[in-house]
Amino acid sequence: MHDRIAELEREIESLRARLDALAEQGAPGRTSLRIHRRCPVCDHRSVLRIERIADRSQGAIEALAPLIQPGFLEQKALGQFVVYVCRQCGLAEWYVARIEEIPLDHPSVRVAEGPPKPPEGSGPFR
Ligand SMILES: [Zn+2]
Repeated sequence: MHDRIAELEREIESLRARLDALAEQGAPGRTSLRIHRRCPVCDHRSVLRIERIADRSQGAIEALAPLIQPGFLEQKALGQFVVYVCRQCGLAEWYVARIEEIPLDHPSVRVAEGPPKPPEGSGPFR
């Protein structure tokens, strides 16, 4: 009985080490174009970073921004969209650069908080 328990404990340790290694390198389905430079859909390893997405809605070509702050003489763009695109399948991930420019009290902004993080070591991946 003790041998069987010891064997199962070794197997659990081995599986835990494999999960940790996969988490570090970005397991399939958990990869990000921005962070891992690897496509979660087609596993391609070449990514475009596009920083100034053209916005032609105001007549002139500006960088697309998530918010506009109205001003007396001119409007100010707050934040700026950045897109990462897989060069093989075209999957795109949108992010906002300069996120600190987004005012939390702007009428178009709602802060949605997720549940608190579980205590360290209590999740499925230790
Ligand atoms: Zn892809």
